[in-house]
Amino acid sequence: NTPKRVPVMAGNWKLNPNTLSDATNLLKLIASNFLHHRSASDPEVVIFPPYPFLMPALELLEGTGIKVGAQNCALQESPGAFTGEVSASMIRSMGCDYVMLGHSERRTLFGETDAKINAKAHLCLKQPGLGIILCIGETLEEYQSNLLESVVEMQLKKGLAGLKAEDISSSSLIIAYEPCWAINTGIAATPQQANTAHMAVRRTLTKLFGADVAQSIRIQYGGSVKPDNIEDLMAMPEIDGALVGGASLTADGFTRIVDGAV
Ligand code: PGA
Repeated sequence: NTPKRVPVMAGNWKLNPNTLSDATNLLKLIASNFLHHRSASDPEVVIFPPYPFLMPALELLEGTGIKVGAQNCALQESPGAFTGEVSASMIRSMGCDYVMLGHSERRTLFGETDAKINAKAHLCLKQPGLGIILCIGETLEEYQSNLLESVVEMQLKKGLAGLKAEDISSSSLIIAYEPCWAINTGIAATPQQANTAHMAVRRTLTKLFGADVAQSIRIQYGGSVKPDNIEDLMAMPEIDGALVGGASLTADGFTRIVDGAV
């Protein structure tokens, strides 16, 4: 008799769009799609713009129910002498509800290790009201070598090291399972593949935090989610939402994906 997990649909803008005026236009279009659109049964919706567009996003999405998150945060606490960094405290103080940690692009292109991700997770959880989306997922090689389960288990154990069941509420931790081979390739995992991977993720969460907490944690699928595959993905019992890259960059595409969660 487990409580139902509220689906969480997120748009990861990555390094897009190119200018403040393009970002403002996109945010206005999204806001107009979502105003007067929501009911109690709707999913949670979060948008992750680049840092400079966080404040405009918070302002322009006000009243829509859409939450805003940052795509990363500093490994250090503020205030301090860490040129170019943005802290979890700054992000929370603006009114953001989430920080995304460990996206595969950060792991492969920017040297983000499980240990760094773990340290950032601890900093985020020190900020009341700031949740985490922890991204995990195997490479194509690992997938083909049947290493999916051991890879996600290791990423979860290391990324969440030192966190206790009582640190975690359903809004403070979301896992995004994103197989690297599906990100930005147009080749999404099948609903069955994703569901099987999510079961492995939840098995590890059960080992780490016990069955009750593990059942309450939402697991998103990410990797080439589109308006035309979202419904089949969301029909799977272990898929609790989506982390959407490319298809979140148009207001209509993102709106259709959110609608696909219901
Ligand atoms: P994609 O990206 O939807 O463009 O494949 C997903 C992600 O990287 O979060």
